[in-house]
Amino acid sequence: MPAATKAAQNGAAATDAALTQFTESVAAAFSETSTVAGDMNAALGSAVLPVPDVGTGPPPALLAALRSAIGDEGVVVDPSVTASYSRDMMPLAPSGSPVAVVFPTDTAQVAAVVRACASAGVPLVPRGAGSGLTGAANAADGAVTVVLTKMNRILEIDEGNRLAVVQPGVVNLDFRTAVESRGLFYAPDPSSYDWCTIGGNLSTNAGGLCCVKYGVTTDAVLGLEVVLASGEVLRTGRRTVKGVAGYDLSRLIVGSEGTLAIITEATLALRPKPAAPCTLVAAFATTEAACEAVSGAIRAGLVPSLLEIMDATCIRAVQAHTGSSVLGDGDAPAAILIGQSDAGGAAGLREMELLERVCTSAGAVFAYVTEDLAEGRMLLQARRAVLPSLQVLGTWLTDDVCVPRTEIAQLISACERIAQDVGLTIGVVGHAGDGNMHPTIVYDATDPAQLAAAHDAFGRILDAGRALGGTVTGEHGIGRVKQEFLRSEIGQIGLEVHRAIKRALDPAGLFNPGSMFSAGSTSGQ
Ligand SMILES: Cc1cc2nc3c(=O)[nH]c(=O)nc-3n(C[C@H](O)[C@H](O)[C@H](O)COP(=O)(O)OP(=O)(O)OC[C@H]3O[C@@H](n4cnc5c(N)ncnc54)[C@H](O)[C@@H]3O)c2cc1C
Repeated sequence: MPAATKAAQNGAAATDAALTQFTESVAAAFSETSTVAGDMNAALGSAVLPVPDVGTGPPPALLAALRSAIGDEGVVVDPSVTASYSRDMMPLAPSGSPVAVVFPTDTAQVAAVVRACASAGVPLVPRGAGSGLTGAANAADGAVTVVLTKMNRILEIDEGNRLAVVQPGVVNLDFRTAVESRGLFYAPDPSSYDWCTIGGNLSTNAGGLCCVKYGVTTDAVLGLEVVLASGEVLRTGRRTVKGVAGYDLSRLIVGSEGTLAIITEATLALRPKPAAPCTLVAAFATTEAACEAVSGAIRAGLVPSLLEIMDATCIRAVQAHTGSSVLGDGDAPAAILIGQSDAGGAAGLREMELLERVCTSAGAVFAYVTEDLAEGRMLLQARRAVLPSLQVLGTWLTDDVCVPRTEIAQLISACERIAQDVGLTIGVVGHAGDGNMHPTIVYDATDPAQLAAAHDAFGRILDAGRALGGTVTGEHGIGRVKQEFLRSEIGQIGLEVHRAIKRALDPAGLFNPGSMFSAGSTSGQ
């Protein structure tokens, strides 16, 4: 039984001490994430993947052009530094060696870098914080990596029109915090929000916990400023709420993973700051019952602001790693759902009480609703602690597959079968409200057999998701690890349309070569 439930039954809220202890253990776990994942990449770099060849640096004419475009301090060619920009957080993705890493500070500098590279015939890889999970920001051999993190200014917050204009290097959380201080809300909230950038979010069309109610990043985009492969600056979209003039070029560029243009500015729609959340937690003896509750909630017309699922493997990992009983102690249930409503006051409470009834009729072994903010925070922290907790068991490799919401139980069963077949632990955690699951494979990165088994499981999970009518990515993108899966999902005609768009905007194939799909020959073959 969750501690929150016990506290409620005792007529008391969770104690401050318990909250503090839990918060500290999760914070510690999270601070381990980046370090351990960084180590993991480093370990894989030497043990499994080829160590990037540090290369010989850019051609002298290009180096001179880059330095004249953005100054000596913005151009790094030292191989010991450039190597650290060769990978993101996906250990299975191939990566090359950048000849230079550049740090432009404004749009004009980005345009000058693109023109310099275009005239030297040297490709470019745009990069934000490098938190991606597909290798999409990984360096390509001989290319220049363009890091946008120095373009990190919030240019405008327009309360009258409920929008903001930002540079691409702004960190998601910094932006959220800034707009919240003005009573506004920026919805897209990837779990990496404390270090990923808006430019990376736009380019991957990132999702997060609140997509069930607010959609993915593209749903917050009004317009973009981008630098094209020609070095020209294109503005797409508008500042108005409505506007349908011409093709929707903003939506084309959002999610294009740096293959069509470099985003240098974004005009983003904001919402009124939601009310304080009301939270539900429910535990189930079977994953089928938990998934039946998800379908029941949808049939009942509920639109919670988040609805997350954790299976028994994830629950046990969080219990063990954090030492908290917020998800219960003793035997873990087969699955837990955590839901929230931000409708506010009585409306939020009503929404979660209805969800509680739906869970109970689906067979929940307990369900509990709380308006206590500390309890709600603890439960969400437990959800966010899944990856760091699984990491204690080994290296994690998180998949990203989105299935119709009626098929979540089948996907979880498929993951259980795959885990047995390959002999590895797979924990399933995900955004149940929108069907986007993150089955996470745990393996020993130093054991080549386990690495191969993890790779195998990664692909088999995607196949299982597709067979259930799903897609091979709900939010992380394609990058350098899912190209064959993209091909089979969109088909040959879809691929040719992608190639035609790429040729139209980037005929020389300058932007992010080797990522998302192969551009093919100029005749489209
Ligand atoms: C612990 C953890 C949790 C995560 N949780 C989520 C989650 O809940 N939801 C989710 O969607 N993702 C999640 N991610 C994945 C990742 O954080 C997102 O994909 C994020 O959007 C990447 O942002 P970034 O700044 O790190 O971009 P990078 O990884 O640097 O780049 C990502 C892609 O964007 C391109 N790019 C970056 N900036 C620009 C630009 N200005 N112009 C053009 N192209 C550009 C790159 O070329 C690359 O293709 C998670 C990752 C981790 C490590």
